[in-house]
Amino acid sequence: MKYRHTKIIFTVGPATESEEMLRQLIQAGGNVCRLNMAHASHEWCRTIAARVRGLSEELRLPVALMMDIKGPEVRTGALEEPISLDVGDLVVIGPSQALAEEVRQDGEHVMTTNYPGLAKDVVTGGTLLVDNGMIQMEILEIERDCVHCRVNNRGVLGSRRHINLPGVTTRLPAITQKDREDAAVGMALDVDYFAMSFVRQADDVDLLRRYLSENNCDARIIAKIEDQSAIENLEEIIQAADCLMVARGDLGIEVPFEKLPIIQRRAVNLCLKMGRSVIIATHLLESMIKSPVPTRAEITDVANSVIEQADCLMLSGETTVGKHPVRCVNILDRTIRSIEESLSGEHNDCLELKTSKAKILRSAVVLAEDLGGAGIVVFTRNGYLARTLSLLRPLRSPIYAFTDQPIVYHQMSMLWGVSPLFIPLDHDSEAVITEAFSTLIKRNSAKPGDSLVVISNVLLKGEILDTVQLRQIPLEG
Ligand code: PGA
Ligand code: MN
Repeated sequence: MKYRHTKIIFTVGPATESEEMLRQLIQAGGNVCRLNMAHASHEWCRTIAARVRGLSEELRLPVALMMDIKGPEVRTGALEEPISLDVGDLVVIGPSQALAEEVRQDGEHVMTTNYPGLAKDVVTGGTLLVDNGMIQMEILEIERDCVHCRVNNRGVLGSRRHINLPGVTTRLPAITQKDREDAAVGMALDVDYFAMSFVRQADDVDLLRRYLSENNCDARIIAKIEDQSAIENLEEIIQAADCLMVARGDLGIEVPFEKLPIIQRRAVNLCLKMGRSVIIATHLLESMIKSPVPTRAEITDVANSVIEQADCLMLSGETTVGKHPVRCVNILDRTIRSIEESLSGEHNDCLELKTSKAKILRSAVVLAEDLGGAGIVVFTRNGYLARTLSLLRPLRSPIYAFTDQPIVYHQMSMLWGVSPLFIPLDHDSEAVITEAFSTLIKRNSAKPGDSLVVISNVLLKGEILDTVQLRQIPLEG
């Protein structure tokens, strides 16, 4: 299909931080660039953000910048060398190297954690999972602020690996001091989205929202659902956030993995009903970190997310440290197009439309459908019209969303089906429509004679009317 509705997010890392790799990822179809604050330094963020903005400008392709702040995440500390662990090995984990060394018993490996309260939240006999559950440890003893553990399986421990404590609600604040400092850098860089890790309730989202608005920041908030409390409070979290991320990496450890597909489907359906964008993250093409080809199961998983009509699919390790980052984007692109082409049915009629403006948009979508998939043209300053059109999921229609606001231009690149386009909107509406048509012709999205559904304001006897117009691009000459 000429047009791809489902969007692609890539995470930047050592494998892709160079200008050349970023260029290739964007040209291959990456729509959103994610900076993961678990690993990124502030200086590095500045460099990458400048590169991505520069390339977006040069290539004339919108790319949203997403800063992923880590929230109440428990991690192991930095290590100079990875530690090889074997079954039965003993480990002591402390809030500082000094304290861990102090309580260390003979033969124990020493590890640190960023969470000083770890020893207070866990119990003897409990399980501690490190690095996506790759290394499982049993808690033998709690001493001062340290925990002594026994390793249950062989594995190599690297720096700053994530620790999961299934079923344990840590007392970490929703936004840590580090998050505030990271977000301040993100705001200075005008990132378009903040993803918030381990959101447990709506209040967590509100807290970040307040911090952003105190700083007059218009970035949108993505709530990452990653543990059991997020699932219990799913609806209020969706309500509070602008977007949802089904963060399957942590979720698949914190809840029984056989529940994961059910949670994913419920989360996507709720977002499509309540009017929020939704991202499916983690392990989409995991085997391609090493292998040049995906597994059949991975392609089927990707297809499933497209069929469920998520807005975006997100690559993490595949593009941060993988051997084939650009190939991964190519393969997502190809698979998405193939699956989208096979879809049939009508637009999303579960979306709750509250305003009459939103209902007008539905009539535009119905008209575009009736015309066999005509393109939809919309003008927007805050993105609301484009978001609503996107949520209506017109299966056969591209949505051309014109804006004169840089942040909205980039933000819209995350929305299902939306092609963001930048033009001045300050002329009279007829001149803007003419400009929009010539932009579409220039980028080969339309040709003279094509019919388009245009949503526009017209001034009639001093009153502004929202209209849906069926327009034909004038034939030249
Ligand atoms: P992470 O979030 O990559 O920041 O851990 C995604 C996930 O948990 O799936
Ligand atoms: Mn996570």
